[in-house]
Amino acid sequence: MSDCLFCKIINGDIPVTKVFEDELIIAIEDINPQAPTHLLIIPKKHIATALELSSKDRQLIGEIFLCANKLAEERKIDQSGFRIVNNCQEGAGQTVFHIHFHLLGGRPMTWPPG
Ligand code: AMP
Ligand code: ZN
Repeated sequence: MSDCLFCKIINGDIPVTKVFEDELIIAIEDINPQAPTHLLIIPKKHIATALELSSKDRQLIGEIFLCANKLAEERKIDQSGFRIVNNCQEGAGQTVFHIHFHLLGGRPMTWPPG
């Protein structure tokens, strides 16, 4: 989508710190980190929110979680603990309407989230 921030990032139109890329996914450093590790795992396919996922996206979602595990191991937050967050809809804090998963770690996490 031409007016989507993450589609622009995926197309290379906006500079980011990319930490992983394959044919389905990119992972980047969040520009406004909320923890020592704060990565965004983003499917290349434009899907606005988790509500728009279909049965065709089953593999994609699996790949995202496997990617998160790999990145958590690389960042050495796999044993201390990490959080994978998807904000779905504005009321939950979603600001970019191209589905993405935050990978957060490197500090103690509290519950419930704000
Ligand atoms: P959400 O609020 O769940 O939709 O998450 C959107 C995330 O995108 C926020 O954590 C922002 O800090 C992050 N973000 C926005 N613009 C950029 C950018 N140009 N590069 C990297 N991260 C970004
Ligand atoms: Zn998009």
